[in-house]
Amino acid sequence: MKKEVKLSGIPIVSGWGMGVAYFVGRAVQQTSTVSISRQDVGNEIMHFNEIREQARKEYRQYITDLSDSSTTDISILNIYEHILDDPAFIGQVVETISTKLYDLETSIRLVSNDFVKRFESAGTAYFKERSSDMVDVCEKLISYLYNDDGQAKSFVEPVVLVVLRAFTPTDILAYDKSKIQAVVTVSGGKTSHAAILARSYNIPVVSGIRNISESIKPGDQLLVDAEKGSVYVRPSSIVVARYKKQAIDLSALNELKRKWRRPVYTKDGIEIDVLANISLPEDISDAHENGADGIGLVRTEYLLSNRKEMPSEAIQYEYYKTILEKAGNKHCVIRLMDIGGDKVPQFFDMPLEFNPFMGWRAIRIFLERKDLFESQIMAILRAGNGYDYSIMVPMVTTLQEWLEAKAFISQIAQRAGVRMPRCGVLFEVPLAILEMSTFMKEIDFASIGTNDLIQYLSAADRNNAKVNYLYNPIEPAFLRIIRTAIRCANDNGMPLSICGEMAGNPIHTVLLVGLGLRRFSVIPRSIPVIKEIIANISYAEASESTSHINAIESTEDMAHWLKTLNKRLLGDVLQKLPITVDV
Ligand code: PEP
Ligand code: MG
Repeated sequence: MKKEVKLSGIPIVSGWGMGVAYFVGRAVQQTSTVSISRQDVGNEIMHFNEIREQARKEYRQYITDLSDSSTTDISILNIYEHILDDPAFIGQVVETISTKLYDLETSIRLVSNDFVKRFESAGTAYFKERSSDMVDVCEKLISYLYNDDGQAKSFVEPVVLVVLRAFTPTDILAYDKSKIQAVVTVSGGKTSHAAILARSYNIPVVSGIRNISESIKPGDQLLVDAEKGSVYVRPSSIVVARYKKQAIDLSALNELKRKWRRPVYTKDGIEIDVLANISLPEDISDAHENGADGIGLVRTEYLLSNRKEMPSEAIQYEYYKTILEKAGNKHCVIRLMDIGGDKVPQFFDMPLEFNPFMGWRAIRIFLERKDLFESQIMAILRAGNGYDYSIMVPMVTTLQEWLEAKAFISQIAQRAGVRMPRCGVLFEVPLAILEMSTFMKEIDFASIGTNDLIQYLSAADRNNAKVNYLYNPIEPAFLRIIRTAIRCANDNGMPLSICGEMAGNPIHTVLLVGLGLRRFSVIPRSIPVIKEIIANISYAEASESTSHINAIESTEDMAHWLKTLNKRLLGDVLQKLPITVDV
């Protein structure tokens, strides 16, 4: 057996996990094979022709979009089309299906591997490139085989997903999450949407691993230490034994969970709400178990993941009804679809953008494609009748946008014959938060989306581990903006939460309470921990201590000050928590 290899990357979601390497982003690198019976041969070949046609259409569309709007070299897309029509490629896939009786996916993969071997042995740079084109095309073809019914694909054994490109939310949602022990990826930051999902499902992630495919092969056993950012390929029994001993203290966590299924007050009696951020209806039971005081954010765009078509109003209605029923008497904030950026549903005809996070996203799509959002809003309003819920709109930049969105929601409410729900803004664009006071008369509540707000304020992509050092929630200038926003809301009696990842990191709890925050919205499993900390803080003492942040100028000084503040106000509460606190 080959020796253990240790790789280093950046810890993105803490924890550790062990499983077999399953490659995502290069489907053709899998090793398992699936056989078919002779009767299925015709169907598999027909399906092959269909997905080639589907890919051809998609490439043509790219070509049209690109030739209108850019100077990009589109010759690569022409090469992809050639591969799709190449008689040698088609013939070999058909032959593999019909003579070896392998299913379509296995056949594409085997043929692709064969071509790649031949291209690579030619040795020239030109043929090496052709081999990666071949892999891209085959990966696209195979991806169509998976995007059928919106159902997650399951694994037999525990796996570690090895993502050979940017890590996306679909990488988690497309598979049975209970089998994913960890994720190893080339790129992705701590607050990328994929990382947020992984965190809420307790899946450790290490990013920034270079030359992955040279060091890891499909089927290798991997042990991922996402506390330190290490990945052990074929770990030795000594390493495995060491990790097994460190398994988190589940019983202590469960005890905290039980303890905090009730409201929390600071030591001086101020009630603080700790709500849950969820993505799927099944997350609600997790929210209840962890003692959520309500649901502070439903990321509804995950309803669209893995779907070929926009779900009908009836399907959406069922989805919201389930969520609201499960939330019971707890308040639920439903956010309208935040599509765009790194979340583009397959069915959505998104024009190619060079800077998607700065582009057509969320409310910007909503106001232009009201037809698409109308069914979502109607479904929410109908399902929400009789429930305690509100609607939140993401990515609002200007008051005009907000007024137009609100007027549209009100129009639909009238049409549906239901009352207008409370509607609020997710403040995550700098222009909006800096002008929060002008929104006050027009909104029913506010929430701060620090994940996006930090990236837009610091011009550091939340998905890019390379610029992670600039993406910092304790940057003094950022904290001053947060403080002003909280003050503005409190002075206006406006309910305000923070629902970005910042609110779920225990190291920030004292600070945020001190800045005046009364409502946290975090992933369910962070709730008991955040409540435990709140119960150990005096509100008055925290506010008095944080009044000095104006004088702190550098991030280093802020980090040092924050550690001292936590120590002074909490003693060893953080150290005693049954989780790793990421300082
Ligand atoms: C945020 O930006 O902080 C937020 C809550 O929204 P999302 O992470 O879904 O972009
Ligand atoms: Mg956001």
